[in-house]
Amino acid sequence: MFSSQPRFGFDGQLILRPLSLDWLQQSGVEVAVLRLDLVDHELSGNKWFKLVKHLEAAQRARAPGLISLGGAHSNHLHALAAAGRRFGLATVGLLRGQEQDTPTVTDLRAWGMQLHWLGYGGYRDRNLPTFWERWRAQYPGFYCIPEGGGGLLGAMGCAELVPRVRSALASAGWDNYDAIWLAAGTGTTLAGLVIGEAGQHRVFGALAGPPSHAVGAGVADLLAQAGVPDRGYELLDASRGGFGRFDKELALFILSTERDGGVPLDPIYTAKTMMALRLYIGRGYFPSGTRLIFVHTGGLQGRRAAQGQLRKLIDG
Ligand SMILES: *Cc1c(COP(=O)(O)O)cnc(C)c1O
Repeated sequence: MFSSQPRFGFDGQLILRPLSLDWLQQSGVEVAVLRLDLVDHELSGNKWFKLVKHLEAAQRARAPGLISLGGAHSNHLHALAAAGRRFGLATVGLLRGQEQDTPTVTDLRAWGMQLHWLGYGGYRDRNLPTFWERWRAQYPGFYCIPEGGGGLLGAMGCAELVPRVRSALASAGWDNYDAIWLAAGTGTTLAGLVIGEAGQHRVFGALAGPPSHAVGAGVADLLAQAGVPDRGYELLDASRGGFGRFDKELALFILSTERDGGVPLDPIYTAKTMMALRLYIGRGYFPSGTRLIFVHTGGLQGRRAAQGQLRKLIDG
């Protein structure tokens, strides 16, 4: 049960920092990074903004706790478990695959999340209408959050980033910007930004997985639910051979961006997203003088498990 009546969300000023890297300087395009990864050491990245309105809904429903799903490296379950501990809420995580220990799972356990391993088949059943019956029976009244913190509430939590970007502009020495560039998985965060922008600035979503009809349809559906026209954004392929696939160039890009630009990136989302931006800028897609907001959606907790593989790619 909610111990008190906490107010969820992030009250501070968002950090927006100009990015300085070789490949940018030659282009005349300016990029400022919205550091959602720095919002909080546990509750950070886009997953925190996607969760806030779900937590408020659970609070309104007086739910005794929250249930959601994800993999053994899930940024979403990580944020949910952290929120549970922070605000005194019970949390249940339904996990894909067989029981395993990862840095993420260690944190989930330490923060008191109840874990159930569903295997791969069991996890695939999550879209069946009967899937939730068992969990509703086992955890009566618990609030169920869709995979990844999606849905309209997830998007609406991200829509609130837009006015916050505006109030952070001055800290980057900017008075305006031309477009937003960010990673897209389900496209929920992108849809939220499109809703928040209401047609003012274009939003580019760099897809971490192979382009699929489902992502485009999901974004269109969220915009329809929000009553916003289905335009003002673009989805592009940033997947480099597949979701969660790493290559040497990616590993080296992460290394040099952190060393020379001071920005740590995760290999699944943010690094691929910035590499796609470099490609677009290198091809002259944006005229000199264009100002872009690059949203750092976080995900660094998930990077811990990938460090060994990234190092091997660099050394090999
Ligand atoms: C989940 C995640 C995304 C994708 O967010 P969507 O709302 O599903 O598009 C992007 N970046 C990071 C770091 C994430 O964890």
